[in-house]
Amino acid sequence: MPLDLEPLGPNRYVLRRQGPMRVDAVVYLNAALRQSFREETALQQLADAASLPGVVSRVVGMPDIHQGFGLPIGGVVATDADTGVVSAGAVGYDINCGVRLIRTNLARLEMNRERLQRIMRAVEDRIPAGVGKQSRHKELLPRLSEVLTGGAAYLVEEGYGVPEDVEATEEYGRVEGADLAAVSQEAVERAGQLATIGGGNHFVEIGYVEEVFDRSLAGAFGLEEGQVTVLVHSGSRGFGHQVCSDYAASMAGAAARYGIDLPSKGLAAAPIDSPIGQRYLGAMHCAINFAFANRQLMTHDIRRAFEEAMGSSWEALGMAVVYDVAHNIAKFERHFGRRVLVHRKGATRALPPGHPVNPRRYLHTGHPVLIPGSMGTASYVAVGQPGIEETFTSANHGAGRVLSRAAARRQVSREAFHESLGDVLTNVANYRAIVDEAPQAYKDIDAVVETLAEIGLTRKVARLRPLAVIKG
Ligand code: 5GP
Ligand code: MN
Ligand code: MN
Repeated sequence: MPLDLEPLGPNRYVLRRQGPMRVDAVVYLNAALRQSFREETALQQLADAASLPGVVSRVVGMPDIHQGFGLPIGGVVATDADTGVVSAGAVGYDINCGVRLIRTNLARLEMNRERLQRIMRAVEDRIPAGVGKQSRHKELLPRLSEVLTGGAAYLVEEGYGVPEDVEATEEYGRVEGADLAAVSQEAVERAGQLATIGGGNHFVEIGYVEEVFDRSLAGAFGLEEGQVTVLVHSGSRGFGHQVCSDYAASMAGAAARYGIDLPSKGLAAAPIDSPIGQRYLGAMHCAINFAFANRQLMTHDIRRAFEEAMGSSWEALGMAVVYDVAHNIAKFERHFGRRVLVHRKGATRALPPGHPVNPRRYLHTGHPVLIPGSMGTASYVAVGQPGIEETFTSANHGAGRVLSRAAARRQVSREAFHESLGDVLTNVANYRAIVDEAPQAYKDIDAVVETLAEIGLTRKVARLRPLAVIKG
């Protein structure tokens, strides 16, 4: 079927319900993004998602949308909590991939090259980077069941952080409903990757607040111009990947039994109230807690690294967690007067001010929304605004890819890569190892963030710039 986007008002386009679609798909793009928009496959994937049983209202494509496994990255699909389905592919392989922002009271002006390199080395000494790396927190592996049920909250109790860390984490760093019996032995074996960064799109990035757009919100988040920050992007590593593989396969096998006509293999789904749906949710909740724990442990290690490199305690360095937010997850929430399961894949929750589900400390502002851009451009802190209910209170999770990894390797030369990084330090000696992560591989973060801000769904709080990036 032809997938034509019709304008639907400022920065909004609609893919009208047609064929097997049960609801419309709405895609958010500003004029600049619309002009260069070439995401045919992603649109087809949104149309597929719009045909899932029990899908509610509309599926949403964020301005950073691009092709994913089943559901595009930058896709939001809500299904009725009683009559709908849950899809492992719609959550994705990296369950609870997310971003954590840590602030410091260091000033950018104090951060010369030598200091940055010292911090980077100290971080690398503690946190393994790259695919398949094994944990240096071996002491926790015998306590895997506590990690899977207790998440970051358990680690804080065990001394790997302070209560304020989880007070500034989505779900306070722990979800209920983790079912250890629903996790395969293969997944358990891959849990040895706890407290590692992961592959090249994941990172620990030292940066600074380049510009504040809203002084009052920035103040509430503890951010000010010139301040050094640390962004952490990682998820549930091999553990979550295995949970997704296991259940995407078993859901695909069981679909016919449940009378589900699957739009694509990647969108394999099962009724929420079926045994397999329930088991997936139980395993997914383990992976959610695993990822919260992963980012908590990395925070612990980063604090130690700063202490070693800077010669003062992390408390004296003011290294508080600003927020930690998931961008690959499914959650039961209330929208439009009903209970739905919101699948967010490459999309971040963005609760507006006053929303009762906000963490207490951000109840009156709305919680920070963390939007990384690329290793050479900017990242943003934003906040949801009242109109954001139309996206099921979701915002874009990043800039989004514009080049596939293979295309980036073909198209971005060594010179162009180095030029786009400018003075930003990295841990990678050979550009070939990370050229697929070049800034050129991602959309224009400014245009992507403006898309929702221009129409009042979000408010920009601050823009960050990278100084030194440790790529996974
Ligand atoms: P994803 O979760 O889809 O892999 O990545 C989220 C977003 O992170 C990407 O869309 C991209 O905009 C951003 N990103 C990727 N690499 C980096 C990096 O090294 N630094 C920063 N600040 N952002 C990045
Ligand atoms: Mn991610
Ligand atoms: Mn990830």
